[in-house]
Amino acid sequence: MKGILKKYNLLNIQKEVSRIQYELLILTEIRKVEVATGINLMSGLEELNRIYGEKARIRISEHLREMRNTSQEYLHIHTHPENSPPSPEDIKIFLQTKEIKFMIIFGLMNATYFMSKKDTFDISEEQIKKSLYDNMQTLEEAEKYSKKYNETKDIKYIEDLFERTWSVTCAEFGINFHIIKGGI
Ligand SMILES: [Zn+2]
Repeated sequence: MKGILKKYNLLNIQKEVSRIQYELLILTEIRKVEVATGINLMSGLEELNRIYGEKARIRISEHLREMRNTSQEYLHIHTHPENSPPSPEDIKIFLQTKEIKFMIIFGLMNATYFMSKKDTFDISEEQIKKSLYDNMQTLEEAEKYSKKYNETKDIKYIEDLFERTWSVTCAEFGINFHIIKGGI
């Protein structure tokens, strides 16, 4: 994880990310809920209110209201208790919210999913809508795999499938995507 943070010039928030990861995973494990929060990249501090929600039903829209029109950039963080990779909804929110520059999703089985917008990412709302429409099939396929992922015991097979599906999807959207094994 340190390598990834370094690659994206985020070493200044490494301690904050580690602290949040530790706290969120404990909360997720104890309360069996998803937790979401965010770091303001300017201050380097956790400035969004923590949100708790049922698995896959977290209401990130509360964060969107907090972030929108602040002219600040954020690293958005949430947990996936089932350890599933980013959902189509996650990628939509990531694309449509210009304030979110990075997204980290922590699974419970030591997998971390990291998304970053490339510097060249400058897509209008119109283009995002078209892009989402054009890629809906891939997104739906990914969601289908996501459900399978939660039911299957053949984790390795599905993990490989995911890595391929999401890498392609993200590349089309101008997003860098990494799966990081192990903790921070
Ligand atoms: Zn998610």
